[in-house]
Amino acid sequence: MYDDLKSKIESTFNFRLNRNQWRDLKRLLYEIYRRDQKEPRTVIDSLKNKTSVKKAGGRNKFFAIKKELIGYRYPLTSQKIAIDTKDVFLAELKEPFPDNYSPTTPFVPEKIFIEKEARGSYLEGRFRFTFPDIEFEELILSGEYIKKHKFSPHQLKRPLVFIVKERWDFIKPCPCTSHCLSCRYWILNLGFGCPFDCSYCFLQQYANFPGIVLPANLDDFFTQFDGFYKKLKNPIRIGTGEFCDSLALDDITGYSRQLAEYFRDKNLFFELKTKSDNIANLLKITGAANIVIAFSLNPQTLIDSEEQASSSLSQRLAAAKQLQEKGYSLAFHFDPIIYYEGWENDYKKVVDRLYGHVRSPLRWISLGTLRSARELKNVVERRFPQSSIFYGELLLGKDRKLRYPKFLKTRMFKKMTGWIREYDSKTPLYLCMEDKDIWQDCGFTPDTSQKVERSLLLPGID
Ligand code: SF4
Repeated sequence: MYDDLKSKIESTFNFRLNRNQWRDLKRLLYEIYRRDQKEPRTVIDSLKNKTSVKKAGGRNKFFAIKKELIGYRYPLTSQKIAIDTKDVFLAELKEPFPDNYSPTTPFVPEKIFIEKEARGSYLEGRFRFTFPDIEFEELILSGEYIKKHKFSPHQLKRPLVFIVKERWDFIKPCPCTSHCLSCRYWILNLGFGCPFDCSYCFLQQYANFPGIVLPANLDDFFTQFDGFYKKLKNPIRIGTGEFCDSLALDDITGYSRQLAEYFRDKNLFFELKTKSDNIANLLKITGAANIVIAFSLNPQTLIDSEEQASSSLSQRLAAAKQLQEKGYSLAFHFDPIIYYEGWENDYKKVVDRLYGHVRSPLRWISLGTLRSARELKNVVERRFPQSSIFYGELLLGKDRKLRYPKFLKTRMFKKMTGWIREYDSKTPLYLCMEDKDIWQDCGFTPDTSQKVERSLLLPGID
């Protein structure tokens, strides 16, 4: 079909497309079709009547066509601002992976690898007990697997488990991103990989092996943290859940209970972030106000299409309610908020449902719109060919990540904060990975990372 289109453009406009020009136009025609179901032939025909295209001669013909197609591709943004073509990411189209692994529920490993030094650990015991029929293989180091097996992203969700002894990477500051006001969050690096499969998940771009890595030496994390904690002058916010879902496998790992018991008497907030309702272990112990269980929220239509194998919105909210009754603090992450026709109605309903389930104030709520490194879009297209979220109004921002343009983000953040504030004037809100201008345009007062951090910590230490 696309070869015909190339000939059609060349004959209609009477010039020959070189390889790069054709890559750009093919990509634009494809994305216009994916977002608005406009047939490429109809789009090409409509260009014949455009004055800019009629007037352009020679090489400029291509640029005039490309500009018009960018207008179709970004209907909202092109009405507001002149789009710089350098900010439009036009990668070569590639076929979806034919043999992509998808997660199954409940999670059942295909095979469990265990590092020699993790043998005999409680985590090995938990996996052997839960999966008595699954094969175990011993490795000196989990890296051996990667050396022997060439990895392709279609294998990302292959259900392999690596039980390891973490040696170096225990605690680190959240890297946030350049040009942005950070919230000075800390990461307890407890695991990498996730049994859920969100189309927008950034792990797809970082992972160089399939499966899930789980450290067995929780005691070493606590020893490391003891040393780190002694040096802290002020409270911090720290959590797992940057490179995994904090609770998705908690019925097997039992991490939550040990973490809550360890952190409950410390002068900090410890956060477990999840899209699951796997809270049975937390309900078996006494809750604590500084243990924050955070649920990521999205409308159910997006959970169905973009967050495979995760718990439903109703399940997440029901779990939150139980945890609050048990004495835990709650937080919520609206991240990523995704723009689509009708998003306002759907997200407003999620806010209404949230406040129908839990008492305010909450510990914090974060807001973040869809964003990603551009390389991620290429992986997502091949792993999730049915997903269309990357055909929204995403352009390369200052940091060369794909983001919605400023006017759209501001509109979305203002709407979200307005709906939340109708119920709740006290819960601290913050924006994830946004620059100072956006914070200010959306009515947020903190203008340094220190002030952002203080605004999130203070309600807890009054
Ligand atoms: S729950 Fe989080 S870590 Fe898991 S797939 Fe979704 S975005 Fe990635």
